Amino acid sequence: MSWFDSHCHLKTFWEKGELSAVIQRAQNASVLGMVTVGTSPKDWNIYSHLATEYQEMVYYSIGLHPGYVDEYWEQNTKGLRSFWDKPLPPVAFGEIGLDYFRLPSEEGKRNRMIDNQKAAFTKQLEWAKELDCPVIVHSRSAFDDCVNLIDASGLAWRNVVFHCFSEGAVQLNALLARGGVASFTGIVTFKNNDFLRQTLRLHPFEKLMLETDSPYLAPVPKRGKQNEPSYLSHIGEYLAENLQINSCELAAKTFRATRKFYRLPI
Ligand SMILES: [Zn+2]
Repeated sequence: MSWFDSHCHLKTFWEKGELSAVIQRAQNASVLGMVTVGTSPKDWNIYSHLATEYQEMVYYSIGLHPGYVDEYWEQNTKGLRSFWDKPLPPVAFGEIGLDYFRLPSEEGKRNRMIDNQKAAFTKQLEWAKELDCPVIVHSRSAFDDCVNLIDASGLAWRNVVFHCFSEGAVQLNALLARGGVASFTGIVTFKNNDFLRQTLRLHPFEKLMLETDSPYLAPVPKRGKQNEPSYLSHIGEYLAENLQINSCELAAKTFRATRKFYRLPI
């Protein structure tokens, strides 16, 4: 049995000196691959280094998360493109996108922030299109704008995953109809999240990806603790039972779908 954590952030573990134990626990839990996802220039070099150190176990993506976009976004994305010239390039751009959840209340500031987020997202989509590279989308309270900017970019939708999906059937179908996919975190294990479990059922299994988004969003039965990639097995086991399918089959399908999406050898 092998699970794949399609989206985690390893920086915290690395800084605390816990990373090798975290990777060991992941392997013990049959989590045999993970993508550590960049958010700002502060983690890109760390992740590039980790992917080299833990080859065939850790892969990395880099991008400027909308939460880190400000008026200096152009300067802060300067070094981004050159990572694709490295011997071990990132497997994706991400996470990038739009986050309208926490915007300033003052209208002028608010509009400037939205404009900056859109501009930074558009620029990174342009590079992704040029490189025909997968993109991990962070969308919070901004689904339609994200979809519209991706449409406008001309990036092939088979390169697009909306991570930590928490929208409904209409939005999921909008992604699937275009050829995009969604990935699901441990929030699908939360007791009162039947709505999301119903949505997940509409996603084709052959393209389904699971993620911890660790160190955030620990799943049941670890809720409230620091999340880590080994907990992907809890998400998988929970879902297998909930969907009444064999957990080995779910592991195999999601493992394959993830490697295929990130264009890793299968
Ligand atoms: Zn994330």
